[in-house]
Amino acid sequence: MCKLSIVVPCYNEEEVLETFEKTVSQIVESVTDDYEYVLIDDGSKDKTLNIMRALHKKNRKVRYISFSRNFGKEAGMYAGLKESKGDYVVVMDADLQHDPKLLPEMFKILEEKEYQSVAVRRKDRKEGLRGRCSNLFFKLLSKLSGLSTKPGEMDYRMMNRNMVNSILEMKEYNRFTKGIFSFVGFDTKWLEQEDIKRELGTTKWTLKSLIKYSMEGITGFSTKPLVLSSILGLLFCLIAFVLIVIIVFKTIVFGEAVRGYPTLICCLFLCSGVQLFCFGIMGEYLSKMYLEVKNRPIYLVKERSEEK
Ligand code: UDP
Ligand code: MG
Repeated sequence: MCKLSIVVPCYNEEEVLETFEKTVSQIVESVTDDYEYVLIDDGSKDKTLNIMRALHKKNRKVRYISFSRNFGKEAGMYAGLKESKGDYVVVMDADLQHDPKLLPEMFKILEEKEYQSVAVRRKDRKEGLRGRCSNLFFKLLSKLSGLSTKPGEMDYRMMNRNMVNSILEMKEYNRFTKGIFSFVGFDTKWLEQEDIKRELGTTKWTLKSLIKYSMEGITGFSTKPLVLSSILGLLFCLIAFVLIVIIVFKTIVFGEAVRGYPTLICCLFLCSGVQLFCFGIMGEYLSKMYLEVKNRPIYLVKERSEEK
């Protein structure tokens, strides 16, 4: 056991990892020297793993595990929490966008025992469209799932052992950690930080991965979209019923004329569109269930640092 575990998921972070370790060590040592790093190499294709090996050789506080391929940041965080031994565990990015200067304050808050977790959110996001979309997504997610995720929330959080163990109980394959943090509950103190630009390396997010991540969040924590498909179905049945009444009435009063072909086509397209949309929603949930039922491992380890 130690006092604090620092869990860092890393994917192609050769440019920043050493700077990260130096910067964070300096800050953490001001509050405790009983700490460890749990570095997760998420199947990096650059020299990240070599740097981890070197850091482990140099500093025995550094432990690492390396995945057999890229499993994604969510798997990385889960593995890190599982490997961690500290009374407190902090999860943070390798790119120094999660301000390490907040670590002493987070540590102090947990030491006072009033809160079981300290989380950080962005004060104001300067990333334009992506920032705005992200805020919108978090509002939508809170509405749909009833979870209290905050706009600007980051995966930067220090927790006590009790909360970490609760998170580890959630062994689902489709992981959405921000939702899981909120689901397990516990009293959380929120801190704010300025938006920090990434100085070294590049972001690992693509539009595709962001869309996938958002879908994961919604389907993982809300079944309301399934209700939406029933409501849409019902609405269209109603519209169709009213249309039938109008058409029958018109035919009786004004007689039949070969008209209305465009209307027919429009209705056809609209209805099949709605049907496909609803199937899509169901398919989304079905595919999640399919993967959960298979009970596949969340990550596979290729190499790990030797124990002390
Ligand atoms: N990351 C990871 N696996 C991935 C993608 C990212 O472990 O498949 C790590 C990455 O190395 C970094 C953190 O997750 O430490 C956040 O990634 P990034 O900085 O690209 O995200 P952003 O800050 O742009 O949201
Ligand atoms: Mg980043």
